[in-house]
Amino acid sequence: MKVGIIRCMQTEDYCPGTTDFMAIRNKTGAFEQVKEEIELIGFINCGGCPGKKVPLRVRELIKRGADTIAFASCIQKGTPIGYPCPFAKRIKELAEKNAGASVQILEYTH
Ligand code: SF4
Repeated sequence: MKVGIIRCMQTEDYCPGTTDFMAIRNKTGAFEQVKEEIELIGFINCGGCPGKKVPLRVRELIKRGADTIAFASCIQKGTPIGYPCPFAKRIKELAEKNAGASVQILEYTH
């Protein structure tokens, strides 16, 4: 699996993504069922509210080899500050539309 992670720009100050990297390394959370080796292609923020740069982020990660786009848990679950993204549903729709059917979308990381 070649994964590109998109995270919440508003949460960056609170979180350097340590648990995301741990989930990939230890194959936990959204990566629990993955048998193959996991390569991290990129780790980038959404571009800020309201997430209009997500399609661009998705396309760039795929261009660089990602076959899977994962949203860091800060977006859907609101970790670690308990504040999920109010635009999460729309962001996911945009990502799916831009990624195409051959690219897997993971809604969270851990
Ligand atoms: S659009 Fe959502 S994910 Fe992006 S910075 Fe705003 S709250 Fe965070």
